[in-house]
Amino acid sequence: MATYTPMIQQYLKIKADYQDAFLFFRLGDFYEMFFQDALKASQELEITLTSRDGGGDERIPMCGVPYHSAPNYIEQLVEKGYKVAICEQTEDPKHAKGVVRREVVQLITPGTVMDGKGIHDKENNYISSVTYFDQQFGLALSDLTTGENLVALCSSFDELLNEIYSVGTKEVVISADFSEEWKKQIVERCQATLSYEEQTTPKNFQDIFIHLQDGRLQQTFGRLLSYLERTQKRSLDHLQKVNVYYLHHSLKIDLYSKRNLELTETIRSKGKKGSLLWLLDETKTAMGGRMLKQWVDKPLVNREQIEARLSMVETFLANYFEREDLRNLLKEVYDLERLAGRVAFGNVNARDLVQLKKSLQQVPSIDELCQSLQNEHFLSERLDACDDLTKLLDVAIVENPPLSVKEGNIIKDGFNSQLDQYRDASRNGKTWIAQLEQQERQKTGIKSLKIGYNRVFGYYIEVTKANLHLLEEGLYERKQTLTNAERFITPELKEKETLILEAEEKIVELEYQLFVDIREQVKDYIPRLQKLAKRLSELDVLQCFATISENRHYTKPIFSHSGELIIKDGRHPVVEKVLDAQEYVPNDCVFNDERKMLLITGPNMSGKSTYMRQVALTAILAQIGCYVPASEAVLPIFDQIFTRIGAADDLISGQSTFMVEMLEAKNAITHATSQSLILFDEIGRGTSTYDGMALAQAIIEYIHEHIGAKTLFSTHYHELTILEEQLASLKNIHVKAIEENGKVVFLHKIEEGAADKSYGIHVAELADLPNPLIKRAKEILKVLEEGKKEPNSVEVKSVKSNEVVFDSQLSLFDENQVNIEKQHNVHAFSKKEKAALEILKTMNLLE
Ligand code: ADP
Repeated sequence: MATYTPMIQQYLKIKADYQDAFLFFRLGDFYEMFFQDALKASQELEITLTSRDGGGDERIPMCGVPYHSAPNYIEQLVEKGYKVAICEQTEDPKHAKGVVRREVVQLITPGTVMDGKGIHDKENNYISSVTYFDQQFGLALSDLTTGENLVALCSSFDELLNEIYSVGTKEVVISADFSEEWKKQIVERCQATLSYEEQTTPKNFQDIFIHLQDGRLQQTFGRLLSYLERTQKRSLDHLQKVNVYYLHHSLKIDLYSKRNLELTETIRSKGKKGSLLWLLDETKTAMGGRMLKQWVDKPLVNREQIEARLSMVETFLANYFEREDLRNLLKEVYDLERLAGRVAFGNVNARDLVQLKKSLQQVPSIDELCQSLQNEHFLSERLDACDDLTKLLDVAIVENPPLSVKEGNIIKDGFNSQLDQYRDASRNGKTWIAQLEQQERQKTGIKSLKIGYNRVFGYYIEVTKANLHLLEEGLYERKQTLTNAERFITPELKEKETLILEAEEKIVELEYQLFVDIREQVKDYIPRLQKLAKRLSELDVLQCFATISENRHYTKPIFSHSGELIIKDGRHPVVEKVLDAQEYVPNDCVFNDERKMLLITGPNMSGKSTYMRQVALTAILAQIGCYVPASEAVLPIFDQIFTRIGAADDLISGQSTFMVEMLEAKNAITHATSQSLILFDEIGRGTSTYDGMALAQAIIEYIHEHIGAKTLFSTHYHELTILEEQLASLKNIHVKAIEENGKVVFLHKIEEGAADKSYGIHVAELADLPNPLIKRAKEILKVLEEGKKEPNSVEVKSVKSNEVVFDSQLSLFDENQVNIEKQHNVHAFSKKEKAALEILKTMNLLE
């Protein structure tokens, strides 16, 4: 190191503290990166890699970005999950002895960015920390953009992972000795960036978490706050008191199920569009949008809380005009939470404050409206419109201030007498100059004479060359010569100029001071604004529920005490919307003591999984306090929902579909209670017929005997339908399909009893399998049907044109099929091969 230049030595010293971040090292108008950082950044940002002599033997790789365009580059890196340390020159180079002093002034990380593409209006951006305590995990969450803070205890790693996934935190702060395996899972499953912090007692802000009773929660939040203090180096004044939340206070839905049910994002596109959240979002404010997402992520389990929400939704439904008024008023409400965050960080401008004022001006009307609604839940507490703040902003800030806060034109006349005096001086001066121009024109007779201003010479009198002779000698001092004109000053003009300029300078200075002062005053209102923001968000979500319930003809759910579930004319909320309501076939669903498990059979594509999902989504909608897509709904309050639906392969973890299927089944079986809802779609499909069917049956029996959870179980193993005779509370249902002109027509209608026929061949036909193959399948089917009493004795010829060859007899559980499955890697099957297998399975399953 000794051979490096002092500046590179300084760089290396600072870099040593920021190993896991790109160090943006300020050099004049650029941020430069060196060594490994330069190599990596030049690739990630596609910028030119150069090198410089640093005193060592080899030239040092270097790349840089101009100071003014740095935010864009920083955003790109952070978006990719990297961290960026901003290292500024912290003394004036003119006064520096030796190398200019430099310090890291901020560490920007995925969890701490305040703006840019990564920050969505309707989503929180949480940074989190995790601490492990003997079988339990503390989880702390903080959203710097809104100041919200939360902390919880998770009783297993799975629970922790679910939570991290569902809140979507992008950065997790842990201690260096955290288990490697856990770290790996957090990074891979939740795509979060890891950061390290050993300290668990921050220097400041103890008051926001000192009330936490549990030392573990204190330590966990303390770690997060220590990290923020160490890295952010800016005001964290807007951080709110930490709220403890309990996972058992909300309906538990594990991360697979959240994905499967597409609550907040779809499986395929990973985007919001097509999800339940997308369907529901009729919120008018960004804050309401964020709260809606929180509610969807955490449906309630407390009957009173659910009923309270539903009652408010009902009131909004009954008061259409008030609801419309509210929607219009909310439209004018700005993101108060994020604004409070920016006030704390000192980066609001006057326009933000005008928006704050306009938002606050809506509050009295909103409050009145709530009071008029005659519902105790709205009457509990008046909304705090922060009148004094509104007044202050109204008298202080002009209606259309500029973006910049350092160029004046922010403060209204009459707010500050000193400012008014300066303004008088400046305005009078300007009037005087206009008058002088008139006088000079008259005196000299030069019509084109004008008085102008530029930064270099100040005010001047400009006369064209042709008119110069008209000027009186000795009165005008020449200042500048242009091609066609000359510019002059007079002592009088100079005197006024000094007055005007001084006044203007003072105006700008004073306006800035006043603005900063007002901003400081706004700071004192942060807690009140945050509280108001919460109330408004809540109203927004409730009006959103009412709006969606009215538009989509939902019905108010009733909660049963007996655990009974009756859904009449239930629909899948999202499929219904996408399909156009007319086409959607509504279906009933009933669960009670004699009917706890429903075994669903029916052809592929008939609507089995849609039906299962719609039951789960109906329960979730009810438990977030929204009406539900049905004509009538009596529901229990579920404690947990488990799903195993479709083949949403878990590609990230590299586990086979079948393994994931079994893990999800295990998860459900170990945690479900009699108050849970289980959806198992085609479980056992990923293995051979014997295996699969045996497992499916064993799972059904286990749930029936030991858990008693309400369960929807779809299967293509038709044999399982005989379980109805053995298991008291299992009932068969099926999706009806009919044959028309030799083709299958799906009616999407759920009916009692087992399906009597599988329509595999017709589906294969729809999938465009070669005609000879379909024809042959039909022949085999006929033979099998005729001889179905003794299927073992049915001779089957080999099929020439296809690689699927039967050269032995087909038994009920066909060995050939098992072999075919074994020979092929199941994942490698083409669509057509799969369909061919489907046909074989279909035939085997005929009674
Ligand atoms: P399965 O699980 O039986 O293979 P799906 O539930 O995936 O079938 O449904 C297949 C398609 O049928 C869906 O994409 C949907 O468009 C349509 N569908 C399902 N249920 C209904 C219904 N009740 N009314 C109208 N269309 C439906």
